[in-house]
Amino acid sequence: MPMAYDDNNIFAKILRGEIPNDTVAENAHALAFRDIAPKTPVHVLVIPKGKYVSFDDFAANASPEEITDFMRLAAEVTRAEGVSLDQGQGFRAITNAGSHGVQEVPHFHLHIMGGRNMGPMVT
Ligand code: C5P
Repeated sequence: MPMAYDDNNIFAKILRGEIPNDTVAENAHALAFRDIAPKTPVHVLVIPKGKYVSFDDFAANASPEEITDFMRLAAEVTRAEGVSLDQGQGFRAITNAGSHGVQEVPHFHLHIMGGRNMGPMVT
C-alpha cells in the first residue's frame, strides 16, 4: 500500500503557487528550483508536478511522459548550472527516501548538487 500523498506538504504549496520559489527550469511535468538552504554552490531540487511521495512511488506509478520530462529537466539543470559533464564538471544527484533516507519533504525530489568537488559519499 503506497503512502498517502499529503496535499499540505511544502512542495505541493510551491506547485500551487502558495509559496514562492527560485525557479531554474520547468517543463510540462517537472519543476526545478534552488534549495532554500543550499549545501553546495549548486543545489537545485527537481520535482515532478504530479503527486508522488517518494522515488519508489514515482518510479512505480508515474507515466512514461512524466518520467521522461523529469529526467530531461534534471539534465537541463546540470547544463544550465554549468556542472554538466559536457562542461567538464560533474555533479551529485541524490534522493532521500523514507525514514532511513531521512526524507524531510514527502513529495519526491532529486537534489542536483555540485559546483565543487563533492568528496566521497558519506553515510
Ligand atoms: O531530501 P529532503 O526531504 O531531506 O530535503 C528537503 C530539502 O528541501 C532540504 O534540502 C531543504 O532545504 C529544502 N527546502 C526548500 N524549500 C523549502 C523547504 C525545504 O528548498 N521551502
